[in-house]
Amino acid sequence: MGKYIILLGPPGAGKGTQAQIIAKEFGLAHVSSGDLFRENLKNQTELGKLAQGYMNRGELVPDDVTIAMVKERISRPDCAQGVLLDGFPRTPAQADALEKVLAELGGKVSCVPYISVAPDVLIERLSGRWTCPACGNVYHEKYNPPKSAGKCDKDGSELIQREDDKPATVERRIRVYMEQTAPLIQYYQDRNLLVEVDGTQSIESVSQQMLAAIRKG
Ligand code: ADP
Ligand code: ADP
Repeated sequence: MGKYIILLGPPGAGKGTQAQIIAKEFGLAHVSSGDLFRENLKNQTELGKLAQGYMNRGELVPDDVTIAMVKERISRPDCAQGVLLDGFPRTPAQADALEKVLAELGGKVSCVPYISVAPDVLIERLSGRWTCPACGNVYHEKYNPPKSAGKCDKDGSELIQREDDKPATVERRIRVYMEQTAPLIQYYQDRNLLVEVDGTQSIESVSQQMLAAIRKG
């Protein structure tokens, strides 16, 4: 049976950064709903066109299309050993839908590491975030700079700043998180799956604590 892990935390908490490390360690597929939307955007699919306005405003894409997209992705063969979900679920309705999909696949959520970081730190992280448009790898100009300025360590692509990492949108995204996603902390606490990790520590310390929590979970 597959191992299904959900990374919970506000925008900028370090979900994507940790997901890379954890997915490799446990041999899981890394499924990021944000990356899936950005891929659709780049390819100008119908889904991408629909998602674009919501993403640019820093709002959530409606549950029905988001759930359908993730369901299709986690049903593929490369997800049979398990999945590390990054950025999904983001609403209680998405969490309920995920429970059903996993039951159909014969699995269930085994652990929900929650990376907690205060809002002022999030703003600093997102405004200094640089992303590789080719592979999705993320950097921070101060906390996690690439080896060669402005270039991805993995494939050498020119790094970009995401449109929705501009200050006004960042504040909106944090508000949306507080209102629509934060209730999932209680949701998974009630199911005894939540493990809180202090996300203000170094990337390495956060990883160590998350790996230990997942091994236990
Ligand atoms: P999320 O996927 O939760 O939005 P990211 O993994 O993209 O978060 O990280 C947001 C930004 O913060 C990136 O620029 C990343 O390099 C940086 N970052 C991630 N973890 C840490 C950390 N523990 N300390 C300092 N900066 C971090
Ligand atoms: P971050 O890593 O900074 O938290 P993401 O890359 O996860 O941001 O998400 C970028 C945008 O994609 C969100 O602001 C939202 O518009 C959309 N999105 C991603 N995941 C979801 C989801 N599970 N439900 C609804 N919208 C989503």
